[in-house]
Amino acid sequence: MYNLILFGPPGSGKGTQAKILQEKFGLLQISTGDLFRYELSNNTPLGIEARSYMDKGELVPDSVTIGMLRNKVEANPGVPGYIFDGFPRTTAQAIALDDLLAEKSQAVDQLILLEVIDDEIVDRLLKRGEDSGRADDQDESIIRNRIEVFKAQTSPVFAFYQERNLSTTVPGIGSITEIAGRLEAIIKPQLVN
Ligand code: AMP
Repeated sequence: MYNLILFGPPGSGKGTQAKILQEKFGLLQISTGDLFRYELSNNTPLGIEARSYMDKGELVPDSVTIGMLRNKVEANPGVPGYIFDGFPRTTAQAIALDDLLAEKSQAVDQLILLEVIDDEIVDRLLKRGEDSGRADDQDESIIRNRIEVFKAQTSPVFAFYQERNLSTTVPGIGSITEIAGRLEAIIKPQLVN
């Protein structure tokens, strides 16, 4: 098993790169943002609850998010590993993830931060908002709030895994293929073992 946390602020390319890695290595991408948007599009109680936070660029409460993540992992056993995309976003989520994986005699093997400067993030997300229609990508103040939430609440997760020497940083600037190459260079040697 190889379990990867693809880490970084909104718009750093986690989803794009997770899909490439999924295709290449057969790891399963789990995006909590996508899971929430699915619930939202089906108007489920979970989706309705999540919406009030997502619309403001705030984090959905850990109690809701962790349960949803657990269900997704447990519905997909037997994969060679997971790519966690947009999770964990708080230290409490990281602890819950460690506990969940430990129950299955697994662990987080690597966290990779895709580093992108704030102004580039804003440009990318506004552009994505035009293409996708995502409400939280269309308003610069919501985007700036998401960046602040990342810095305040999510960035400690990097240090949390750094204590175990599992965290590493990759420049998130360049072509999609270039960035995929940087990720592969880190992941491939670990998959062999
Ligand atoms: P994303 O697609 O990863 O940018 O997530 C979109 C929104 O979903 C975020 O701004 C949060 O409101 C919510 N969300 C996604 N993942 C999480 C998470 N792990 N914890 C809390 N909220 C999340």
